[in-house]
Amino acid sequence: MEASTPVTKIAGDPHTWVSPKEAILEVQYIADQLSNVFPQYKSDFEKNASAYLTKLKKLDAEFDTLKDAKQKVFITQHEAFSYLARDYGMKQIAITGLDPESEPSASALATLKSEMEKAGLKHVYFEDNSTSAIAETLAKSAGASLLVINPVEGLSDAQKKAGDNYLTIMQENLKSLQKTIK
Ligand SMILES: [Zn+2]
Repeated sequence: MEASTPVTKIAGDPHTWVSPKEAILEVQYIADQLSNVFPQYKSDFEKNASAYLTKLKKLDAEFDTLKDAKQKVFITQHEAFSYLARDYGMKQIAITGLDPESEPSASALATLKSEMEKAGLKHVYFEDNSTSAIAETLAKSAGASLLVINPVEGLSDAQKKAGDNYLTIMQENLKSLQKTIK
């Protein structure tokens, strides 16, 4: 079973869950598939899914407010936010590609820097859990500051201990995006 089956895919990009709109489709799909396989537990699956879907729909509605922004561009370290950008009317510019460890060339960084200056972008998003050297380099050369965004690709032990989960992390992401998408 592939949870992302109902999602309209962006070629080669696995980061479907980063958009609450797609997470809603995936949770519903998983519940439906489980109910098909274990019909005796159907009401449990539906009850659990519907409680979680209520929370996801509330989150989705909050992200929908980003659609009214005038400034819709954001720069990220790794290309993990294409579904989020597509679903909420934003434009992601990624420093590295889908693989966060790939290194951009000096000329690619120079191009990004001039794009940032042209667009008046003063922030670069980076991820807490991975190396931030490239985002730091770009931010420094463009006179921009760094903000955290999290692609929810796995929680650190500290995050688990703090009770973080998909919903809390996506709330943090929303707060962070609201600093530049407005
Ligand atoms: Zn990724």
